[in-house]
Amino acid sequence: MRLVLLGPPGVGKGTQAARLAARFGVLHISTGDILREAISSDSPLGREARGYVESGRLVPDATVLRITEERLSRPDAASRWLLDGFPRTVAQAEALDEMLARRDEGLSTVLWLHAATEAIVERLSGRRTCAECGTLYHVRLLPPRREGRCDRCGEALLVREDDRPEAVRRRLVTYEDATAAVVDYYRGRIRKRLHEIDGNGAPEEVGEEIARIVGGL
Ligand code: AMP
Repeated sequence: MRLVLLGPPGVGKGTQAARLAARFGVLHISTGDILREAISSDSPLGREARGYVESGRLVPDATVLRITEERLSRPDAASRWLLDGFPRTVAQAEALDEMLARRDEGLSTVLWLHAATEAIVERLSGRRTCAECGTLYHVRLLPPRREGRCDRCGEALLVREDDRPEAVRRRLVTYEDATAAVVDYYRGRIRKRLHEIDGNGAPEEVGEEIARIVGGL
């Protein structure tokens, strides 16, 4: 099971990826999470990526390819994984295909999640993230049991730096400029394995639709 989850920021990729990992036992690989961890530990990768991530720009392809290749080469990524937030450019999609071809593998399915812009802006502006374990919440749509605290680990919930309005605007433009073309790339190459999913509904509804597709693989 080798899955890619594509879609604009705020469409629910992180939430759905976590659900898929829990339900199907796939390894959830989020390039955004890897970069945020590197930034918070102030590693060389974090120092390189911080300016891009916090302002809502894409980290250069070469850097993202290096971390993805490294992550996919570990033993726990031998067969069942889900890429969330990668590929985000056609060059990354091509490089992923080459990486997989070298391993004699291919993608099982590409899930393309989309939603109306108003819904996306609302989700991003109310999003809260646990500083400790990364669990995602929304002040209205997915509130924690205790305000401002993570249900899983009790730590404080924060607003991601790139969920602030200016960075959100830039991320949406970047998606249209660079990432939307990745959908066309897959449409041209693996049309039958590209699934378009309406992400406007509640997380449970969207999750059921995704589970139907993945469960049928
Ligand atoms: P995400 O958590 O997927 O929304 O990613 C947060 C930020 O990390 C993005 O806005 C980019 O700055 C950076 N990032 C994550 N994945 C990629 C990628 N595949 N290519 C370039 N930048 C990325």
